[in-house]
Amino acid sequence: MSSLLLNLGHWIDCTEVEGPGKRFAIWTQGCHIRCVDCCNPELLPFVPNKLVKVDEMVRRIRAAHEQHGIEGITLLGGEPMIQARNLSVLAREVRQLGLTVVLFTGYVIGPDRRLPDGGAELLAQCDLVIDGPYVPSRREKKRNWVGSTNQRFHYLTPAYDSVIETAAQYRNGVEIRLDASGQAMLNGFPF
Ligand code: SF4
Repeated sequence: MSSLLLNLGHWIDCTEVEGPGKRFAIWTQGCHIRCVDCCNPELLPFVPNKLVKVDEMVRRIRAAHEQHGIEGITLLGGEPMIQARNLSVLAREVRQLGLTVVLFTGYVIGPDRRLPDGGAELLAQCDLVIDGPYVPSRREKKRNWVGSTNQRFHYLTPAYDSVIETAAQYRNGVEIRLDASGQAMLNGFPF
């Protein structure tokens, strides 16, 4: 059990356009990388947004698993690596539920790369990492979920393999939701 806090932009209990299969997607608040044409500019400022305990997110993820049959979570942003230590605690608990963890990060990972505090611990809990900043001049046209050709898939466990990158069953798309006030929320691949 953990009362550690996460600063989140928003989350969706079940989406099919943020990684393989049905997933609980979590957008973190705050990113300093500042890619040109970032599609989530509201998530860039380092301001408190939705402050949620790790325990509460685990409870929501467990409920989504029971209700929707999600196969895992996706962490994206904002920049999840900025909150890597607390997210690693969340990711460890999620994997104990038998679910997978997918991470999108603007950092480039590798043996000679430095990561924020807790970065190695977070990577140790991930099944798949998609890394690198979005570079509009290198627009991706073939692979699922990535915006530019510099971004790489890292398969850190046997849960997934490169077949998912172009598998037709995971075609890029968008989902649109309306909340109770009639406000629309769009997620997925915007291009
Ligand atoms: S890393 Fe992601 S959230 Fe940060 S600026 Fe780039 S696209 Fe936007």
